[in-house]
Amino acid sequence: MNDSKSTKNPVKKVVIAGGGTAGWMAAAALTKLLGKNIDVTLVESDAIPTVGVGEATIPTLHIFHQLLGIKEQDFMAATNATFKMGISFENWRDVKKDYIHSFGFLGQDCWAAGFQHFWLKGHQRGIVSEIGDYVPEHLAAREGRFAVLANQALNHAYHLDAGLYAKYLRNIAEQHGITRVEGKIDKVNLSNENGFIESLTLDSEQVVEGDLFLDCTGFRALLIEKALHTGFEDWSHWLPCDSAIAVQTESVGKPVPYTRSIAHESGWQWRIPLQNRTGNGLVFCSKYMTDDEAIAKLRENLVGTLRNEPRVIKFQTGTRRKHWNKNCIAVGLSSGFIEPLESTSIHLFQRAIVRLMQMFPSQGINESDVNEFNAQTKFEHDNIRDFIILHYHLTDREDTAFWRHCKNMEIPDSLQHRMDLFKQSGRVFKKAEELFGETSWVQVMLGQGLMPEQYHPIVDQMDDAELENFLMHIKNNVKKKVASWPDHYDFIQHYCKST
Ligand code: FAD
Repeated sequence: MNDSKSTKNPVKKVVIAGGGTAGWMAAAALTKLLGKNIDVTLVESDAIPTVGVGEATIPTLHIFHQLLGIKEQDFMAATNATFKMGISFENWRDVKKDYIHSFGFLGQDCWAAGFQHFWLKGHQRGIVSEIGDYVPEHLAAREGRFAVLANQALNHAYHLDAGLYAKYLRNIAEQHGITRVEGKIDKVNLSNENGFIESLTLDSEQVVEGDLFLDCTGFRALLIEKALHTGFEDWSHWLPCDSAIAVQTESVGKPVPYTRSIAHESGWQWRIPLQNRTGNGLVFCSKYMTDDEAIAKLRENLVGTLRNEPRVIKFQTGTRRKHWNKNCIAVGLSSGFIEPLESTSIHLFQRAIVRLMQMFPSQGINESDVNEFNAQTKFEHDNIRDFIILHYHLTDREDTAFWRHCKNMEIPDSLQHRMDLFKQSGRVFKKAEELFGETSWVQVMLGQGLMPEQYHPIVDQMDDAELENFLMHIKNNVKKKVASWPDHYDFIQHYCKST
């Protein structure tokens, strides 16, 4: 069969177009895990720089590193990485109101009800402090402490240098037999028979043939969009920011173990501390702020000497209509863009790579695999999109036209349902395969000011004294544990030397 969606040709040769974070993640994974069965070639051009941002991650990166057999100390030393236990959202709920979305689990659940229900009743009785005091990762982030524990893993991710990370992965891919071709892709050649990609022609006139192509060309989306015209679902009516200014500064003081996300009048600013420098960026909506205003605003809020000149990056939020189209799979920014408020892009690259492994079309491309891949990817992207919209929409801010737009805009039904459910009953449910679980939704909804009207009746099984004891016990335990952990930066220095 050779219709426009399937082919019985076995996949023996995979070509990765682009060598940014996405390209080298895919290269390292494919060569290491399937290198005995397939040939992998990566084409990249030194003349076309990578986007050069993308330095905050989430804990799922551990899964990817486990697949590749990466040792944490090696990777951290090679990429100047620091630990990250959450994100501090400052001025999001309102000016001067801050909270942390940490990676930890909240207090202790019982089978029927999440910890938030116990905390909610405690809140009504006036016997609790902020919910983060019941989460070790939250308190440790605030106090700048970290530990790797033998009996209980702290949920953590990393801040890393994206350029060094790509180099580190390239090294792994080279050890496992990647063929790297340097050159600019000038033309994507399609089959006259079924429209599949047959080869790439480079500016040197070299032709690189393949059976399966991964589009890792970043926002250019040379294969999936320019050649295959797959289409893009625009989300800018929900996520209107479309620009960023990025700049690096010298470190001032010890790096904190969390990312800072500081809202401003037309967007937000990130601060990502590495061992040797800080990554900064200002995300904004060009309808409400010009590039020059954004650069001035970013400069105003920088701490430390500049290491490079501010760079403007333009983007459109949204997703590719199909992430796998014919014999091309979009991995990386070519697949779409959800702004980096919760550091989810690298996670999505990793998911696309793992999903490809799970459905690797060694005997040819089947329509059913393609459809399944696309359905799973859509589900995942939609869920993350909702979570990001939540931060903008659920706010008390009405001080600027940008925030009034966000507060009053229509939101997806799926998000409205989640907010209504939480408001009425304090309940949140995670559907299979969703990235963000109950504790993430609870921390952000409470942090943004949504206080549920009810708590679960099981909490009333405890009288007030029992409840107070229960909550106090958890809080004291968290405090005691965290106090016993070393300073985050001292820990890293010691840890990275122990490779
Ligand atoms: P790129 O880095 O753009 O790489 C594209 C590659 O394609 C390059 O190697 C280039 O040479 C090659 N290429 C392009 N055209 C051609 C051609 N014609 N011929 C040959 N080669 C070509 N993600 C996170 O997880 N956390 C974050 O904190 C985060 N912050 C971000 C902040 C901003 C402002 C933006 C825009 C994105 C952020 N991301 C973040 C998303 C993402 O992780 C990074 O942007 C990531 O570095 C992008 O990787 P990429 O490989 O898709 O694209």
